[in-house]
Amino acid sequence: MSRSQELLNKSNKFGAHNYLPLPIVLTKGKGSFVWDSDDKKYLDFLSSYSALNFGHQHERLVFALKNQAEKLAVCSRAFMSEELCLFEEELANFCEMEKVLPMNSGTEAVESALKIARKWAVKKKSIPDGTPNIIAMENNFHGRSISIVSFSTEPLYRKDFGPFTPGFKSAPFGNLEALDSVIDKNTAAILVEPVQAEAGILLPPAGYLLGLRKLCSEKKILLMLDEIQTGLGRTGKDFAFQHEGAKPDVLILGKSLGGGLLPISAVVSSAEVMDVLQPGEHGSTFGGNPLACAVAREALKLLREEKLSERATQLGKKAGEWLRSRSLPLVKEVRGQGLLFGIELKKEAGGARKYCEKIAQKGVLCKETHENVIRIAPPLTIDEADLQQGIETILNELH
Ligand code: PLP
Repeated sequence: MSRSQELLNKSNKFGAHNYLPLPIVLTKGKGSFVWDSDDKKYLDFLSSYSALNFGHQHERLVFALKNQAEKLAVCSRAFMSEELCLFEEELANFCEMEKVLPMNSGTEAVESALKIARKWAVKKKSIPDGTPNIIAMENNFHGRSISIVSFSTEPLYRKDFGPFTPGFKSAPFGNLEALDSVIDKNTAAILVEPVQAEAGILLPPAGYLLGLRKLCSEKKILLMLDEIQTGLGRTGKDFAFQHEGAKPDVLILGKSLGGGLLPISAVVSSAEVMDVLQPGEHGSTFGGNPLACAVAREALKLLREEKLSERATQLGKKAGEWLRSRSLPLVKEVRGQGLLFGIELKKEAGGARKYCEKIAQKGVLCKETHENVIRIAPPLTIDEADLQQGIETILNELH
């Protein structure tokens, strides 16, 4: 039995079965490549759902991690750390916003944003405590906590997990007019992903984000953009909202903020919004720990110095051309922005999973999202030749 199979058997026995991973056990990574326990090499075309925008084990990030680990890794929020003070300033400046709340996972950052929006509505819009509502979009994905799945429209994420948190409403993604009948006097915020990645790389129509921006400003509603997956270069801009100049009131970041080395997330906003939080009302032991802050600071520097957002635009343009270059009878549509793509297969293809398995056997890792979409999100640092070769491998299997 292969080492990989032996390990998979162990995990099958001892691990929770809340995922259905491809049967591959990874042991190491470098740049755009990973190796499994039987030493087979793969090209990583998923980047841990955009947590690895900088690729695996980027030397500068590993150096920042090691350097900080030897100095101070964790100090809780009972004290401040030098790294946290500098991270707050640098991330606020990077986002051209004023205030930063550091957390750990994306889910926690979204939860934090929901709390801030509710409190802001009570304090700044005089909506009675316990009555603000927040509008989320159909087909959203913002995490897995009870409150977040309370406004999911995906039955799999909700079934058997109720009772749910009240105070959320739903609107169709990409449809500005539909919001008129959903917004009411108690609406605190609208929460949106600029591209619905988990839902199958769904892009809204042009002008949607800007329309949301205008609507929210007119009605004094917070526009909260979840850029956990789209932020930090992935779509060809530092943030996806920059494609339309639709700056949000609340920006939610995670994934590649941790440089692909450890978890760190953040809520970023104006002072008017963030300052509704008072000492003791919210917190996290590990949120903003100096180790994560040191890596995140280096990640922001790298994004600029290696011009990764521009790189995502240039490589994304070529990748789009390559992906659309062949007429493949099983492919319904290729869509994407920057280096984030979905290849939607026709129903008769029988689901994307089996193709991802075949593509993995050929040495390229990508993953199905929902039934029929193959998601492609290589590291933004990928070599052009590797990108082209990975796309060729995928297209060769789609028949
Ligand atoms: N929001 C979006 C848009 C995401 O893509 C994800 C994760 O895939 C999350 C939130 C949740 O982040 P995490 O898994 O770090 O809790």
